[in-house]
Amino acid sequence: MIIAVDGPTASGKGTIAKALAAHFGLPHLDTGLLYRAVGRQVFLDGGDPDDGGDALAATSFPDSLLGDPHLRDEATGGLASRVSVHPAVRQALYERQRSFAMQPGGAVLDGRDIGTVIAPEAEVKLFVTASVEARAQRRFLEMRERGVHVTLLEIEDDLRRRDERDTNRAVAPLVPAADALVIDTSTLSREEAFAAALDAVNAATGQQPCP
Ligand code: C5P
Repeated sequence: MIIAVDGPTASGKGTIAKALAAHFGLPHLDTGLLYRAVGRQVFLDGGDPDDGGDALAATSFPDSLLGDPHLRDEATGGLASRVSVHPAVRQALYERQRSFAMQPGGAVLDGRDIGTVIAPEAEVKLFVTASVEARAQRRFLEMRERGVHVTLLEIEDDLRRRDERDTNRAVAPLVPAADALVIDTSTLSREEAFAAALDAVNAATGQQPCP
């Protein structure tokens, strides 16, 4: 079973994907981390994330970079969103994501284009979204917990910029697959969001819902 979980930044898609993977005993890939690693590598190389050549060169980042705590920084998220517009970068990361999705037994992947490009044949496609305000508030609390000083307004501005870039890029834009089930987590707790996702998976696979 392949479960594709797409959606914008801080919508709760990562939490849902991880919880579904644990529930079904499936491996999970956070594909945003790959784009973040490319963004971080461009930075470390002193390159320009808007330059296709610099961004493509950074796709050969070492695997050890995937453990770098800086990948979670807001700045790295911004760089990831810039390198991800280059078709050659998306192509370079395609095979890695595709083979993860196609492994025997199935997998859960979260990102922006899993249900549309990476695994269009996925049995279950979820599009997890939430209002910019709700997402900014979540990210703000997360940052505060990590001791990072940013204002709510700065986060909101950054999310709007990234949404705009992710939604309007020419290749693999952030759009729900035609057959995706949309879950709006704006007013849902983590538990409620997971329950909604689980219901959707059970409905898509014809399983009885948990009592
Ligand atoms: O999900 P996350 O915020 O970690 O993703 C960082 C950036 O990477 C996104 O803003 C998006 O531009 C890009 N991305 C993408 N396709 C994916 C996953 C992430 O373009 N499958």
